[in-house]
Amino acid sequence: MIIKKSRREIEKMAVAGALVAKAHEAVRDAVAPGVSTLELDRIAEKVITGDGGIPSFKGYGGRFGSVPPFPGTLCTSVNDEIVHGIPSDEVVLREGDLVKLDCGAIVDGWHGDSAATWIVGGDDAVDPTVAELVATTRAGMWAGIRSFVSGHRLGDIGAAVEAEANAMGYGIVREYVGHGIGRSLHEDPSVPNYGSRGRGNKLSKGLVLAIEPMFNLGGDATRTLDDNWTVVTDDGAVSSHWEHTVALTADGPRVLTARSDEPEWPLADDRSGLATA
Ligand code: MG
Ligand code: MG
Repeated sequence: MIIKKSRREIEKMAVAGALVAKAHEAVRDAVAPGVSTLELDRIAEKVITGDGGIPSFKGYGGRFGSVPPFPGTLCTSVNDEIVHGIPSDEVVLREGDLVKLDCGAIVDGWHGDSAATWIVGGDDAVDPTVAELVATTRAGMWAGIRSFVSGHRLGDIGAAVEAEANAMGYGIVREYVGHGIGRSLHEDPSVPNYGSRGRGNKLSKGLVLAIEPMFNLGGDATRTLDDNWTVVTDDGAVSSHWEHTVALTADGPRVLTARSDEPEWPLADDRSGLATA
């Protein structure tokens, strides 16, 4: 069941989203060679709890029995790890690593969810093909966000994301997808990173989605490690993941988890096209 959000509820989600963005900025600034993923996790937790928020991921899944509760505030996934990596003091970042940081926070009962891929040491620390993967995955996210407009269908988002990956021949993760978000971290609908234009649910005001492409430098296939959480590429190729929580408003898509260097209103420069898009 898809649960639409009122204007007032979207404003509340924007508060949660802003806290996620604040935590992301703190951990982004801390990413460096020699820093462990557990240290990053502690920084994010401090930011979130310091402002009265609750980490969305900590304890997630425990009630489903077979999977142990997720222990971190962040998911920290390095190189061939795609998503759901567990923060650890034994995972120490090195120059040239890709670290994917996924962060969720609850404020006043509402969730925000956002992920980013940072290159330890910057673009020059990796092969240009790897830097290109990261940039293209990010572009795929923005293409999906810009397609999240009233009158489009869900498949338009997936098609826009997929086109970015296909142009480069990247694998697209199929098993893990974007999602509705609100009072629960994961709500309907599922938002695949592939799709057909004009197919699926109609998009309309009040829908709030986490749009989150995961592109691989190799194939699509994934597997889960023995810790029951960490998802890796089956072929060992590196992977990138970017995610924002986005509300569809009367003024187009609003990025609730935008960091200070990103547009909250990605279509603001082209408002003429909003009403009819
Ligand atoms: Mg996430
Ligand atoms: Mg998500």
